[in-house]
Amino acid sequence: MSAIQTVRDVASLRAQVAAARAEGRQVALVPTMGALHAGHLSLLDIARAHAGFVVASLFVNPAQFAPGEDFARYPRDEARDRALLAGAGCDLLFAPEVETVYPPGFRTSVTVPGLSEAFEGAARPGHFAGVATVVTKLFGMVQPDVAVFGEKDWQQLAIIRRLTADLDLPVTILAGPTRRDPDGLALSSRNAYLSPAERAVAAAFPRALQEAAAALAAGRDVGASLAAAERAIRAAGFDAVDYVALVAPDTLAPLAALDRPARLLAAARIGATRLLDNLEVVPATGELGG
Ligand code: AMP
Repeated sequence: MSAIQTVRDVASLRAQVAAARAEGRQVALVPTMGALHAGHLSLLDIARAHAGFVVASLFVNPAQFAPGEDFARYPRDEARDRALLAGAGCDLLFAPEVETVYPPGFRTSVTVPGLSEAFEGAARPGHFAGVATVVTKLFGMVQPDVAVFGEKDWQQLAIIRRLTADLDLPVTILAGPTRRDPDGLALSSRNAYLSPAERAVAAAFPRALQEAAAALAAGRDVGASLAAAERAIRAAGFDAVDYVALVAPDTLAPLAALDRPARLLAAARIGATRLLDNLEVVPATGELGG
């Protein structure tokens, strides 16, 4: 059985990071909530390519779950995660207890207004304050040179890039592309909630987004393309579509026309599971004229 060193308190974490730095190694952080899959491991590959010492964090952050969400039933299997991390060349696992991250008296909240209210923020009140606060906290605890996040959670990535720039945090943010199953469904720890029948239907979600992205790139009307995607997702058997939107990649401002590179963001519900995805949409070069 492969072993990976695990620390749960900040003093031990800092000692390990300091020892790596003393050897001249750069430090990378990959924050996760565990239940690891190939998407997480692809972020570790990116971290390893940029730093000689790779820290993964495993923390199911209660602050980013709204009341009634799946905090209690979120999949947890630290032994399995540790084996996967060891195999992926991770040097250190930081797996703090809730009380270590939020000790008695903790009051601070980091918010990024303007990027946090729509889309996931509308469906999950307080979610992004929880994410922004814990990521800021992890940066303070680990003090990495580089931190790696997935494009899978595009709004989260935009918020983390913004807060890192706004607060002059001395960390370079890198992003990894979304890893998918062969039928196109984005890997997610929450896919484990899907029944076999729901899993079969779920592939219609990325397919509808691919079709919308192709229609948009071909110059079709934005409103009509988004509405067609929503209809296709519903028709496939999803119970609800929370949003399908075309936005500017950094500000997340909705776009009425594809006149620049954009991001297609979407969330939909099937049974008790909420799936999230996004795609890059680039106007066909001929469309821009010039
Ligand atoms: P989570 O454990 O769900 O909080 O995710 C930890 C990190 O993995 C985040 O930066 C996610 O965006 C990223 N991630 C989740 N799913 C994928 C995926 N399918 N491909 C690439 N990165 C992912």
